[in-house]
This record gives sequence, structure tokens and C-alpha cells, in this order.
Amino acid sequence: MDQRYIDELTGIVGAENISTEILELEVYSRDPTVVKGRAEVIIWPRTPEDVSEILRLANKIKKPVYPRGAGSSLCGGPVPVKPGIVLCMERMNRILEIDIENLQFLAEAGVSIREINDTLKPHSLFIPPDPASEVSCTIGGCVANNAGGIHAVKYGTFRDWVLGLEIVLPTGEIITTGTRTRKSVSGYDLTGLITGSEGTLAVITKVRAKLTPLPESRMVMTAFFSNPEDAGKASFKIMVGNLNPSAIELLDKTTMDTISQYLRMKFPPAGAMLIIEFDGPINEVPDRLGKAGSICKDEGAIEVKVSESEEESLKLWTARKTAFQSLAILGKASILIEDITVPISKVPEMLRRIQEISKKNNTLIPTFGHVGDGNLHPHVLYDEENSDEYTRAMNATDEIFKTAIELGGTISGEHGVGVLKRKFFPLEHRAEEIMLMKRIKSLLDPNNILNPDKIFPLEAEA
Ligand SMILES: Cc1cc2nc3c(=O)[nH]c(=O)nc-3n(C[C@H](O)[C@H](O)[C@H](O)COP(=O)(O)OP(=O)(O)OC[C@H]3O[C@@H](n4cnc5c(N)ncnc54)[C@H](O)[C@@H]3O)c2cc1C
Repeated sequence: MDQRYIDELTGIVGAENISTEILELEVYSRDPTVVKGRAEVIIWPRTPEDVSEILRLANKIKKPVYPRGAGSSLCGGPVPVKPGIVLCMERMNRILEIDIENLQFLAEAGVSIREINDTLKPHSLFIPPDPASEVSCTIGGCVANNAGGIHAVKYGTFRDWVLGLEIVLPTGEIITTGTRTRKSVSGYDLTGLITGSEGTLAVITKVRAKLTPLPESRMVMTAFFSNPEDAGKASFKIMVGNLNPSAIELLDKTTMDTISQYLRMKFPPAGAMLIIEFDGPINEVPDRLGKAGSICKDEGAIEVKVSESEEESLKLWTARKTAFQSLAILGKASILIEDITVPISKVPEMLRRIQEISKKNNTLIPTFGHVGDGNLHPHVLYDEENSDEYTRAMNATDEIFKTAIELGGTISGEHGVGVLKRKFFPLEHRAEEIMLMKRIKSLLDPNNILNPDKIFPLEAEA
């Protein structure tokens, strides 16, 4: 990038908030996926006015800008796929207001979910969607991706909690959207439009979101099955059984094995397991847990075990939240992380079909995920250097997406489309719908400078 523009950017944020160091450019050109990009400069704005000035300059010189939170995206979302500016929001990290009376808070975009919930805990409050990456991922990134997580099955995704936003449009205008009230039908839902737009329509600088009291009690149970399909059937029966679980997570055998090695944990021999949680009044939770246990046994569970202490439950959640990292033990260089979601009645079939796809393509596809709301993460593992393995992995990926759509599902339940899923986008959306989305994009971003080449398939892919 031309030095005079670097100087101009330095003038906006100060020398301590900008970098062109090679190592940093390398780190900020990636997320945990196989997608790689090329940052020319990384810039850490401190105020919405900084963001506005950066975007105005980028518009003038037609330079792409890539908003970034913690970079924990699993779809290549923040990766600078064209040489450009990485706009890193991690230093706008203050919680500005906790309004206990109205059960809401206001935070800058770069605060992590863990920090928000740690701050809320002494007030016995929390924001429930619980991404497994909560220790690092930012509230801005979670709203941009409409992230979900372990508790989304009961409490919904971030979309269900956001009341309003402060955003900066790609052309530099600073806008406040939404309301402090718990409902509003006043005008178009701009907050809803930006939520889940994957950093392609605006940069989020502040988030106002709802809170809720921490539940009086929580209990966790594990159920072990001989195969994922039976676990899927039990999950479906629990979901339609009027029991309202706060989490139902599935781990298949391969993931159970990698976690066992990674964390030195022992699970009974089984083909799949469910981790099921109920929360609520102390006099109701054990009853609902007991009913869920009976359903699991009816669906063929080999073993059902209730956690005996909070410490034991915490260990199980740590295990679940480490599932992705534990796959490194399998020693495959590349992982394609899928995020398909199917209607809950189709979960058992989807799980069976993933196993068939894995066998047919002779490809390892460890699968875990938020099975209660139909959101599964099959991980297609391969070695990019091995062309035969690569081809089989790509075939398996195609088949997984096509199967999800055939069953009435979506290509992404929570991670977003980004780069990795954009070629599958037309499987789910008709041409007219994609055209409308592109018109909205070009209305807000006429020079296509904000996170270009994301979500929509490139011409070569279409
Ligand atoms: C181990 C692991 C577990 C995970 N578990 C879950 C899970 O359970 N549920 C889930 O939903 N996701 C999960 N994820 C994915 C990821 O954590 C989420 O997508 C999260 O929302 C990303 O937040 P981030 O701050 O890291 O954003 P980034 O990864 O930096 O960015 C994500 C997207 O948002 C955009 N963006 C970021 N900040 C802003 C902003 N301020 N304004 C506008 N756009 C912005 C970026 O351009 C990008 O498109 C997991 C990831 C990992 C590595």
C-alpha cells in the first residue's frame, strides 16, 4: 500500500494503533480455517470516528477493508482475500453501561463474551448464547455472524438478544439503530439487517443487548449410544417432549476419542454421546432430567449418567468446547468445518447420511454439534498435498451440503458463509433472492470496499 496512505491512516489512529510488521500481517491474514489472505496494514481504531475516517479514506482510494474481532471465524469471514486493510476491533473493548433495571447492557464491539458474562455474574445476570469460543470471540463478531452456541437451543442466537447497534457505514456515516425497549415496530429493522451480515454491510462499533437472570439451578447428564443416529433420535424426542433443555450436544466416537487423548478424560466405550443440560427452578430440573434420561434409554442408550457435581459438569463443557482443537491429534493438515443445520426431525437421517458419505468417500468426518437445534459440525479431514485425498474430501463436502438442503436445511446455522461456503450459497437461495441481497449490499457499499468477495459466489464459482 502506498506509504502516503499508511501515513494518513497513522494520522487517524496514532502510530501505536497501526502495524505493517510482516509477522503481524501474517497472523491477521488468517482465521482458524484453510482460507489465507494478504493484509497490507492492520489498524486498531479506538473510536467510531476513527472507523468513519478510515472508511472514508478507503472509499476514496478504493481499498478493501476487512472488519475483524478475535479472528475466531470458522468460514474465512475476516480474512483479507484481496490485499487491503484489516480493521481490528479488539481495542474498542469497554463495557459502557450495565442497566440492571432494564436488563440490558451497552458494550463496544471488541469486548469478549467471556468478559461480558464475567462482569454480569456478580449481578446474577448473563447473556445466554454460549459460543464454544466465548473466551475470545467478541460481541461485535458474534452479532456480525449471528453466532449461536451451546445454549441457543433454549435461548436462541445473538439475533434474539440484540436491541440496537452503533454502526459505521462503508461510506463513513455513523448511525445508531434499534431501541432500549424490549419490543418495537418503528420502521425497518436495521439492527436485524446488520445482524448476521458478516461484516459486509457495516462496521459494528457498539452493541446494546438484553440480559436475563442466571437460572436458579443447572444439571447435566451424559447418555452414551452405539451410533450417532440413535443419539439423534433421542435428541429429537427430548426436543418435542416439552422438556425445554438448555443444551443438547452430540459428540461422535472419533471426537470422543480425540477429546479423551487431548484432555486425558475417560468415556465409556460407545459410538456417540449426548451431553444434555437443563436449567431453571431447583424443584423442576431433576424431574425434566429424569424424563430425558428415560427417553435416552428408550432410544437405546447404553449408559446414562447424571453429573454429580458442578465440577464434573464443568469438565464436560470444557471437553465439548475443546472438541475442535482436539481434532489436531488426528494429524491431518487441513480441516473443512461444516455448519449445516437441518429441521430437528431430520437430525437422525442427517447423522446417518454423514456416516454413509464418510464411508463412500473413504474420508474421516468427525462430527459434533448442537444437535438439539439441528446444527451439526461435520469436520472433513484431508491432506492437501495428497490429491486423491483432497478430491475425496471435496466430494464428501459437496454431498454433505446437498444432503442438508435436500432435507430442508441450511448451509450455515451459526458460523456464516464467508469464503468457505459461498460456492454452496445458490444451493439454498434462488437467483432473485441473491439479487435482492446484492442490491442491498451495493446500496450501502457502492464501491464494494467492505469485506468484498464474501457470502456471494465469485463468477468462477457460480
Ligand atoms: C473453537 C471454536 C469454537 C467455536 N464455537 C462456536 C459456537 O459454538 N457457535 C458459533 O456461532 N460460533 C462458534 N465459533 C465461530 C466463531 O467463534 C464465531 O463465528 C464468532 O462469532 C466470531 O467472533 P470473532 O470476534 O472472533 O469475529 P471474527 O472471527 O474476527 O469475525 C467474524 C465475522 O464478523 C465480522 N466482524 C467481526 N467484528 C465485526 C465488527 N465489529 N463489525 C462488523 N463486522 C465484524 C468479520 O468481518 C467476519 O466476517 C467457534 C470458533 C472456534 C475457533
